[in-house]
Amino acid sequence: MNFIPYGRQWIDDQDHAAVAEALSDPMLTQGENVERFEQAIAEKVGARYCVALSSATAGLHLAVQALGENGDAVGLTSPNSFVATSNALLYSGHRPRFIDIDSNTGNVDIEQINSALASETTVFMPVHFAGLPVELGELRSAQNSSRLKIIEDASHAIGSKYRSGDSVGSCSHSLATVFSFHPVKNLTTGEGGAITTNDEEFYQRLLRLRSHGIERQPARMSFVHEGPWYYEMQALGFNYRMTGIQAALGLSQLSKLDRFMSRRSEIVRAYNDELSAIDWLRTPMASYRADVCYHLYVLQIDFAAIKMTRGAVMEKLKQRGIGSQVHYIPIYRQPYYRDRFGFEFAAFPETEAYYSRCLSIPLYPAMTDNDVERVVDAVKALA
Ligand SMILES: *Cc1c(COP(=O)(O)O)cnc(C)c1O
Repeated sequence: MNFIPYGRQWIDDQDHAAVAEALSDPMLTQGENVERFEQAIAEKVGARYCVALSSATAGLHLAVQALGENGDAVGLTSPNSFVATSNALLYSGHRPRFIDIDSNTGNVDIEQINSALASETTVFMPVHFAGLPVELGELRSAQNSSRLKIIEDASHAIGSKYRSGDSVGSCSHSLATVFSFHPVKNLTTGEGGAITTNDEEFYQRLLRLRSHGIERQPARMSFVHEGPWYYEMQALGFNYRMTGIQAALGLSQLSKLDRFMSRRSEIVRAYNDELSAIDWLRTPMASYRADVCYHLYVLQIDFAAIKMTRGAVMEKLKQRGIGSQVHYIPIYRQPYYRDRFGFEFAAFPETEAYYSRCLSIPLYPAMTDNDVERVVDAVKALA
């Protein structure tokens, strides 16, 4: 009996061949493969620029850093995310302010964002949880504030579209969008990430910060360009580059994103059909959308009704060879955040309620129909 994890990559012969070929490239890093991957991502999502990076964490960090603002600004974000989202605010000295979620979607509540944005906020980092976009076009206050910078954490959401029809990553209502290519995400480069933007100056800053803050273009020097050896370190940057080997894998994976997305959709619909009538759980995505690349399938389970703890449920599923996971422990509950900021859990009633019920069951395109059936049967057998 094979083990079915909650998420995993799908690597095929084409991916193997692409990586093998990239290993023969004279430039193992910073070569044409990286540029080609960046162009392909930009084209796929409809953005002007793309910067490929070593991870989404690096991308979130660089995007906040490239705002060029100094500490003490307030950054609004979702508590229902991986810690990397709000950590990116901390790296640059920003103060995170968490906004309660809509427990139906796992996304930040748009109405609460609208009122919070009316204050002095300068950064907003929406997280498109499970692939479902936060509808940035519906933000009232964002339209009026030129100071507000929106950086989307789209780690879950490459392939998804807003209701307007624009792709996540097009940055039609934001400064920048960050993607992750970690193996559990919608497509993978092993480790990896990317930022898209339509702002040329911001793009140049990202390129520089990705590589130690070093500028090599003669036209962009602060001082006299002394000769062919000359470069300038103009800002304090990092080494957040992606290798050509990863980019070659990413290009091959990107060519299959539409197929990955439709298989994810099929599985979501099968789960909805099989599980939505059960009274002790709530299925996500009650209103299924064909234009969303579903990344996670999060059940909300009434554990008291089935007289089992979440840990016992996870153990029972595991005994049947099925992985499950909690997305996410609310970030304000993490010891580091509690010690430093002393958040009150009671300020986030919807997030707390959601956290007490959530459990992600397997969703990835390489699942067979038989795998899906096994998961369905195991869930039904819990009560
Ligand atoms: C995976 C993930 C990240 C971090 O991505 P890495 O590429 O692993 O750095 C950030 N935010 C969210 C919401 C994620 O799911």
